[in-house]
Amino acid sequence: MKIVNYSYKGQRPQLGIVEEDTVSRISFEIGMLELIRRGVLPTKTSERHPLSDITFKAPLMPGKIVAVGRNYADHAAELGNAASGELPVLFAKFPSSVIGDGEAIQWDSADTTQVDWEGELAVIISKRARHIDEADAMNYVFGYTVVNDVTARDFQASEEQWIRAKSMDTFCPMGPCVVTRDEISDPHDLTITTKVNGEAMQSASTALMIHKIPALIAHISHFLTLNAGDVILTGTPAGVGKGMNPPRFLADGDTVSVTIDGIGEISNPCRAIDS
Ligand code: MG
Repeated sequence: MKIVNYSYKGQRPQLGIVEEDTVSRISFEIGMLELIRRGVLPTKTSERHPLSDITFKAPLMPGKIVAVGRNYADHAAELGNAASGELPVLFAKFPSSVIGDGEAIQWDSADTTQVDWEGELAVIISKRARHIDEADAMNYVFGYTVVNDVTARDFQASEEQWIRAKSMDTFCPMGPCVVTRDEISDPHDLTITTKVNGEAMQSASTALMIHKIPALIAHISHFLTLNAGDVILTGTPAGVGKGMNPPRFLADGDTVSVTIDGIGEISNPCRAIDS
């Protein structure tokens, strides 16, 4: 099932089920987080709209976002870093950075001039998870979505903690939908494609992940409780702007899109403000 948080003609956002090129409103009023917490899948009503008539909103505002760094060897290498070793590299991205499809990624060009893209597969947790074994970990996955882990490289290079680099407002485009776990037969066999103004920058299979999803859930839940609706960003493959020669960063007026097969595309314009 593909579940979206959408607005029809500017009306209040609501959840719907996507089938082909239409969305059907679900039969009760509920937000995505509460839906995941209840652990039941929604049923649809007869109120249906073409996808071309709706606006996708961010699918959910997670309680927390746990991100994984250097989880693709080619990406670690392009930034001159060692790939993730025996243990995953974890960092936090604040939920206040989440935006939906079509919303602008914004920054002040007096603050940062190195805003970069990172297309990633995001895993959404279904229920409270603590001390979970790898063998049982997939039972804690509600579904998947697409995220752009937008990063200010100048902040990232100058600070040991990546809070500013990763968690500025608008730096976590997410969506357009949540695809339930049963619809993705193998989350480690998906292609992530990132484009800037239509030009392909990243294109790689999630098969290249060093630490796979069950290992990530086992590792993270060993140290902290994952709750229903929490999101894990599984890392980005090669092809970020900083890894190019010369480096290329996002500029005012650019549009950046991330696509994952079977889930969809999140596309966002970029706005650099001169204060
Ligand atoms: Mg990342």
